Amino acid sequence: MKRSSIVVGAGAGGLFAALYLQQAGHDVMLLESKAHVGGCASAFSAKGFRFLSGATTLIGLEPEMPLGRVLAELEVPFAAPIAQKNISVWQRGEPLTLSRDTGANTEALTRAHGEHFAQFWNRSVQLGARGWGLITQLHFPPRGPGDLLGAARNPQAWGLLPALLQSTASKLGGGLISDAAKAMLDELLLVSTQARAANTPWLFGALGMEYLQRPLYLAEGGMASLLERLAEVFVRRGGTLKLETPVSAFARQGDGFRVQTREGVLDAEHLVLNLTHWDAKRLAAPELAGKFAGTVARHSDAWAACTLHLGVEDVFGDDVAPYHQLVLEQTLPVSGAHSAFVTLSRRDDRSMAPPGFRSVTMSCHAPARGWEGLSDAEHGQRKAAVGEELLSALAGPFPQVKSAAKPVVLPGTPKTWQGFTGRWGGRVGGLPFDFATLRRGYPTGRTGVRGLARVGDTVFPGQSVPACAWGARRVVGELLSGAASPRTRTAG
Ligand SMILES: Cc1cc2nc3c(=O)[nH]c(=O)nc-3n(C[C@H](O)[C@H](O)[C@H](O)COP(=O)(O)OP(=O)(O)OC[C@H]3O[C@@H](n4cnc5c(N)ncnc54)[C@H](O)[C@@H]3O)c2cc1C
Repeated sequence: MKRSSIVVGAGAGGLFAALYLQQAGHDVMLLESKAHVGGCASAFSAKGFRFLSGATTLIGLEPEMPLGRVLAELEVPFAAPIAQKNISVWQRGEPLTLSRDTGANTEALTRAHGEHFAQFWNRSVQLGARGWGLITQLHFPPRGPGDLLGAARNPQAWGLLPALLQSTASKLGGGLISDAAKAMLDELLLVSTQARAANTPWLFGALGMEYLQRPLYLAEGGMASLLERLAEVFVRRGGTLKLETPVSAFARQGDGFRVQTREGVLDAEHLVLNLTHWDAKRLAAPELAGKFAGTVARHSDAWAACTLHLGVEDVFGDDVAPYHQLVLEQTLPVSGAHSAFVTLSRRDDRSMAPPGFRSVTMSCHAPARGWEGLSDAEHGQRKAAVGEELLSALAGPFPQVKSAAKPVVLPGTPKTWQGFTGRWGGRVGGLPFDFATLRRGYPTGRTGVRGLARVGDTVFPGQSVPACAWGARRVVGELLSGAASPRTRTAG
């Protein structure tokens, strides 16, 4: 008889977990509270435009990279054209454009920030490339002494250890680096590691710099089309996907688990939660809530986001990079952001925007606190102000945006994100990959309860679609092998 599993949440973590469980022969039911899949990496439509909700940059489809490995194992082919230019980082009206061409990047970095910074960057990129190579070789976090021994015997892992103990900022080389270069580095790292250079171990900082020189894939329909493809394959292979089915509680039931939905209860042997630890604790029955309490206490906060979705006349030109990071001179007063990340839809992608228009997603890191308890009127005002400040930031490098036709202007706040994803306080960015999180132990997704585990971006290796894919692969592997049994350390 087939074994049964329920997966709660059809974000990246839940979709990959559901496919792995299905591949292992389980009867899998995937429950999603919204009418669409993808969560933070979903898309939505408005007035003839398709918008990417949050996640936009797609990296790592190469066969040796984690996402490439996962898609090959799951037999989900997914190809997309590669960007010629990757990203332009804007400071004081000047772009610094990075691509896959290391020589051109070195020249651009030297011109903008001097030779020392360019050397630091290149050392980091080399370290990052070694780090990516190791991710697929080691089982991390270790399941037990066997994995620890494997890591200890791996000379490459030893070679990378010092870079885990030193901060990215400490590798910059003191007074030789300008404040502008430091600000750029901080804002770039915030996107990839959710932390600034002084708090980010160099190894993680390096991984976050290296990806900017990797192939960036520009899928038709954007990043969300990958998530939609995963859902389509899951259903085609016999999986049950129930949309608009929020889970309001879960509990033990005999040797398995029971989840509560509006339509009634559902039972299964295994339960995989694509929920943050805060939300898992909130929905857990009293006898299970304690399994998440330690993680909640250790990891009490994370970033939220403010966003702007813009359907706008194409004033950007042909030769422009698909991604732009605007490093700002002054903090944006309402969101509190120091930079904004801009994604332009491909000029020829008719699934995203009508001819002559582009679909634009802007996002920035925002402190989660301060958005709770607002009245609808207060929130409405602050939301409109977020839209205005992000729009005026975009008009810095692209002044034509001011007078361009803008049929869609949709700001988003932490409160919007909470409603959109169900995540506590709109905390959407995983956990910061900083020293503090490492000291407390990045959550592993293990719960200490046989058959119950957690996936998603608050589970190691954290934020991003590729990281969720790799995390889901590990967590499901552990679940099926019984490694997440009561004998192992609880770190849900
Ligand atoms: C603004 C922004 C920009 C980003 N940019 C990038 C990027 O460029 N590239 C990249 O790789 N990553 C990016 N990320 C990160 C990436 O989007 C996330 O790490 C990843 O998508 C998170 O997936 P998840 O499965 O952990 O969670 P989610 O995407 O939050 O998925 C959880 C799912 O569970 C559902 N759910 C919640 N509660 C319940 C319930 N009670 N019952 C049923 N269903 C429920 C939600 O509706 C959602 O669909 C970005 C994130 C944001 C917010």
